[in-house]
Amino acid sequence: MAIHGPLPNPVATACPYCGVGCGVIASADAGGRVTVAGDPTHPANRGRLCVKGSALGETVGLEGRLLHPMIRTRSGSMERVSWESALDAVTEGFARTIREQGPDATAFYLSGQLLTEDYYAANKLMKGFVGTANVDTNSRLCMASSVAGHRRAFGSDTVPGTYEDLDAADLLVLVGSNASWCHPILWQRMVANQRDRGARIVVIDPRRTATAAEADLVLQIRPGMDGVLFSGLLVHLADGGRLDEAYLSGHTTGLEDALTRAREIAPSIAATAASTGLAAADVALLFDWFALTPRAVTLYSQGVNQSAQGTDKVSAILNCHLATGRIGRPGMGPFSLTGQPNAMGGREVGGLANMLAAHMGFSASEIDRVRRFWGAPRMAGREGLKAVQMFDAVAAGSIRSLWVMGTNPAASLPRADHVRRALGRLDLLVVSENMLSNDTVNSGAHILLPAAAWGEKDGTVTNSERRITRQRPFLDLPGEVKPDWWIIAEVARRLGFAEAFDWPDVAAIFREHAALSGFENNGSRDFDISGLARITNADYDGLVPVQWPVRSTSDRGDKRFFAEGGFYSADRRARLVAIEPPALKVVTDAERPFLLNTGRVRDQWHTMTRTGKSPTLGRHIPEPFVAVGPADAAALGLSAGDIARIESHHGAARLRVVIDEGQASGEVFAPIHWTAETAADGRIGAVVQAATDPFSGQPEMKATTVALSKVEVESEGFLLCRGDVASLAGVLWTRVATEGGTGLLFAALAPFDGAAIIRGIAGSDDVISEVGDPSRGLYRAAAFQDGRLTAVFFSGPGAREAWATVTRLFACPTLDPADRRALLAGRTAEGIADQGPTVCACFAVGLTAVRCAISEGASDVDAVGRATKAGTNCGSCRSEIRKLIGAERRLEPA
Ligand code: SF4
Repeated sequence: MAIHGPLPNPVATACPYCGVGCGVIASADAGGRVTVAGDPTHPANRGRLCVKGSALGETVGLEGRLLHPMIRTRSGSMERVSWESALDAVTEGFARTIREQGPDATAFYLSGQLLTEDYYAANKLMKGFVGTANVDTNSRLCMASSVAGHRRAFGSDTVPGTYEDLDAADLLVLVGSNASWCHPILWQRMVANQRDRGARIVVIDPRRTATAAEADLVLQIRPGMDGVLFSGLLVHLADGGRLDEAYLSGHTTGLEDALTRAREIAPSIAATAASTGLAAADVALLFDWFALTPRAVTLYSQGVNQSAQGTDKVSAILNCHLATGRIGRPGMGPFSLTGQPNAMGGREVGGLANMLAAHMGFSASEIDRVRRFWGAPRMAGREGLKAVQMFDAVAAGSIRSLWVMGTNPAASLPRADHVRRALGRLDLLVVSENMLSNDTVNSGAHILLPAAAWGEKDGTVTNSERRITRQRPFLDLPGEVKPDWWIIAEVARRLGFAEAFDWPDVAAIFREHAALSGFENNGSRDFDISGLARITNADYDGLVPVQWPVRSTSDRGDKRFFAEGGFYSADRRARLVAIEPPALKVVTDAERPFLLNTGRVRDQWHTMTRTGKSPTLGRHIPEPFVAVGPADAAALGLSAGDIARIESHHGAARLRVVIDEGQASGEVFAPIHWTAETAADGRIGAVVQAATDPFSGQPEMKATTVALSKVEVESEGFLLCRGDVASLAGVLWTRVATEGGTGLLFAALAPFDGAAIIRGIAGSDDVISEVGDPSRGLYRAAAFQDGRLTAVFFSGPGAREAWATVTRLFACPTLDPADRRALLAGRTAEGIADQGPTVCACFAVGLTAVRCAISEGASDVDAVGRATKAGTNCGSCRSEIRKLIGAERRLEPA
């Protein structure tokens, strides 16, 4: 792996993946070896890292990096240019659009991966100086409904609690959250609370996920019905005399209307059960536990937010906590689990089109306040276009110049093919990126700007509990790569705003951001870090993780909000909201009888531009898949490992079939990660519909009506080679990082010539060993150069089963004679063949070994760990092992 030169290290930094915001100690040596470990002093993770964080060292290589500015030539090719030329071209393009069609014909689409300082610079340029609020972010796909729900109830976008509440709660209710996979370190804290203090865990989800495996109660709810369940809970609390009348009368409004509406929606346990598809006894148990457990935290994530009624779902949850006064006290409160590493930082600076800056909105007084602080010549006077609307405006031609920073909308937005086509119509598409190639870059980008990546970036991020952590560099900026804030400031300078963007360094941006948070605040806004507004560069460099608010230099007090009211609405009261009757906005029919749910898998992140480089992370689930319930699969004639075509009104994909008992009948699940870069036909964003929530604008990514059908496959196999590998024509391929090279797993739809493929890959003087049985369609070959293994090709019976074993052999360039003889048999010299899919990525323990340990008597996760080592390092696979133990037990004869 090639990396650029190391800076002085180790450094304390932050993980660039999920909103847990774990502290990482990272170092690099001159030989290119990067090591990471959990930061034992960081309050979020206390030294632990999940498998994604642990594998960060495998993701910092320069392979595929964009290292120089590039501009598309008239012939359509990309050409390297100087920074001067690139920045001038960006400026001229935006200036022309502003001049000819006005500021609203321009837009920025940002990312929860940007640092707060980068976000601040972009937002200030557009909303204060260009004069448009067309600044939105991929966080719109993540937690916009939580923002809208918070603002509606609290008058501010405030997460009231802290992670310590998860340690102190006696009841943890997870709604629409597969925390075991998506927020693993927080999940491990919750499970520790369950184990050590006896806290109960309830999981409410349409799928039975790995998280459900550890729950005390699982409510496999009908999609879209969370609002019914929490309406029923509010009614139950009221009827049982469990409301906190003092808190309600002292600090809230709206109970009467909210409760009246809740009674219309869910008047009784029986009615709640009927609407939600749950057993009445389970509903009653949840309601009793909640009613009788003061220390209750309700955690929610994308299953709540990514919904056409997401804001109402959030409101239904907040209503129950406000009505019982369970907010802002130890072990109590609603808790929005943020998906992205810096979605919270983006919210703080106004990265969303409906926020201005420093948690201010678009009232006349707020616009005026920010205008005066910035000295802004042309303030945006109203909210801008939210993500889905923004790309519709691109498609309609009303946005002509777009700058995308650090995100991949051509893969991740709903109706991704529509987005891809829309991008191709722009007068100017600028992309600030780490990678030379991705779906957005390849959708007609005119200018590519090389931006700093994790390990090189310098700034701050804010996690789900409002904790600001420094992200520090430990690697030099490679090539001509620059920080995002510098790029934005250079364009601002060229547009004529040099003075307002004349920051000498990133610390100066942070000070300005902190000062704005305190400007004319006087306790009227929640977000206030003015105590850091005069921080010196040295103190900024040494800043330890700090939770906001930081209202003065000595402010390190209680960091919970609202125990004693003090909301940020005009009357300082919280508002309970009468939600609309929950109704799923889509209906399946005979043509498209399934509801598609989308989400993440344990070991990948977003569109895999970083995690896709890691062989460790590629082991767990190497291919895009669709999870189907056993009965539905049988009815469709689908078996595990088949390929299925999934098709909606908007697009289609072809995915590997996984039979999952956790899938309810009529519902299927597919992950969001694979793109045109990593799979031939695995872009699930192309299939997803684009209905949005009326308040938050967040798209409904959990319910698209789809049809499924089996794809007939001629043969299956894989190709392994050193370095990168081109895609194979005529097959459904998935690219997988492996130790020592790259693999392509494939399903061929027509006959092909395996011998020609390996000869095309191998060097002219390579020696090729082959075995074949044409009558069975079996062909296997390995290429060697001077005894060194250079490529492997397997197709036909047994090929897929040999993948894990052969990739492990491929990791060693020079095989000993016994392994060399065993290679084409798909087994090691010890005779180990099919290891099955990887369960524990840290120790590469496969499903076969875990099942074997269970069948030999390992009855709990620790026992499986003792037998196989699985689950004994980062712990990310422990829920999965527990699920396997449960499944094996169900299979045992009574
Ligand atoms: S839980 Fe894992 S992915 Fe999330 S911040 Fe921590 S180490 Fe990173």
